[in-house]
Amino acid sequence: MSDTVEVAIVGAGPYGLSLGAHLRKAGVSVRQFGLPMQLWRDFMPEGMFLKSQGFASNLSDPDHTHTLEAFCKATGRPYADYGLPVPLDTFVAYGEWFREQLVPDIEEVLVTDIAKAGNGFEVTLANSEQVRARKVVVAIGVEAFAYLPESLAGLPAKVCTHASAHTDLGVFAGQEVIVIGAGQSSLESAALLHEKGAKVQLVARKNTVRWNGAPLALDRPLMQRLKEPESGLGSGWATWFYSNHPGTFRNLPRSTRIYRAKTALGPAGASWLRERVEGQFPTLTGLSIKWAKEQDGSVRLGFTGAGGSRELGADHVIAGTGYRWNMSRLSFFGRQMLADLQNVPGTGSSAVGRDYQTSIPGLYIMGPVVAPTMGPVMRFVFGSEHAATTVARQLAGASAVGRSRTAVAAGR
Ligand SMILES: Cc1cc2nc3c(=O)[nH]c(=O)nc-3n(C[C@H](O)[C@H](O)[C@H](O)COP(=O)(O)OP(=O)(O)OC[C@H]3O[C@@H](n4cnc5c(N)ncnc54)[C@H](O)[C@@H]3O)c2cc1C
Repeated sequence: MSDTVEVAIVGAGPYGLSLGAHLRKAGVSVRQFGLPMQLWRDFMPEGMFLKSQGFASNLSDPDHTHTLEAFCKATGRPYADYGLPVPLDTFVAYGEWFREQLVPDIEEVLVTDIAKAGNGFEVTLANSEQVRARKVVVAIGVEAFAYLPESLAGLPAKVCTHASAHTDLGVFAGQEVIVIGAGQSSLESAALLHEKGAKVQLVARKNTVRWNGAPLALDRPLMQRLKEPESGLGSGWATWFYSNHPGTFRNLPRSTRIYRAKTALGPAGASWLRERVEGQFPTLTGLSIKWAKEQDGSVRLGFTGAGGSRELGADHVIAGTGYRWNMSRLSFFGRQMLADLQNVPGTGSSAVGRDYQTSIPGLYIMGPVVAPTMGPVMRFVFGSEHAATTVARQLAGASAVGRSRTAVAAGR
């Protein structure tokens, strides 16, 4: 058993890296566990681009110096605040650079158990080490919550996988693949599969595939900017509110929060992806999947829609069916911890206070899983600024941690 550390951070994605940078700068004793940028490195397809704009894809650092723009400048990569999609490999390299410079001592090991112990916690690592920490911050992102609809969940992985299962879609060259879903991940996976030589069909429950418009011109007239302000998550006043005021979002009625967290900025493709999808391969809309079965090493799927039922076959089906919050899927929480953790009623998402503290004092959770409390911004890298600065100010003291970029911009 090692000495007690002040804070243990579980996770090394954009949220965990950001918090790690703030706490180290503030001189807090920290141990941090997780695989840096694991989601982006191991669970996304090569050749992907980020949907978020360059200026909205920054990790949060105390001096506001380690931006994506600064990384691109330092490494000779192209960069623009708006309108130039960020390649996945650039973003992964940015996360690595950020880590090397600001949080070099991350321990690349997973946490297998978190339990209350005395006035703090005992954190068990996959290498069997046990670490005592006064406070624990969980920033484990989305991968544990990957969701497959019931009709697909029983199929073997040989014929059916979640979109996050693939880094190299080239392995499907020459095969027939059905992609389910109409969000960015499904649309981009389908485009990449097609470009890598697979025979793709995209099947969506919605009647139409939605596409986002191109980013608005920064120098458009003032009246237009007032009517439709641009912000980290996109344009319009609602989006501006989600982007910049997660602390106020928290005070909305519960049903509104849950609805907005699930539906705001819902499934839609980025404008730059459209020409790589439309007219390139068959897209069938208005079809809901009813059943699926493996047959002779391939897969058959049954759908219903306005025009009746329909059957399709393929070598493989990829489900771009997203993520569903469910705290009990976090295997490092035992039964007692799960019993003590209060969820937002009607969701599998942990409730948190304005400082991201859960119902277990000293245990904090930040990132996508707290979107029903803090809003849709938690589903995006952009939310790491609010989460990391808020939690760091709580753990290190407000005087030791600077204000967030958005708070500075808003004069708060
Ligand atoms: C396909 C796809 C595309 C996306 N594109 C965008 C985009 O363009 N722009 C955008 O803003 N957002 C995008 N997102 C959303 C993205 O998930 C979040 O913005 C962001 O990754 C959340 O960061 P995070 O740090 O909370 O978690 P993650 O990035 O998911 O990182 C999780 C971390 O937790 C660690 N971890 C997990 N379990 C354990 C454990 N047991 N012990 C220790 N560590 C653990 C992992 O190793 C990893 O370091 C996308 C998501 C997906 C799935």
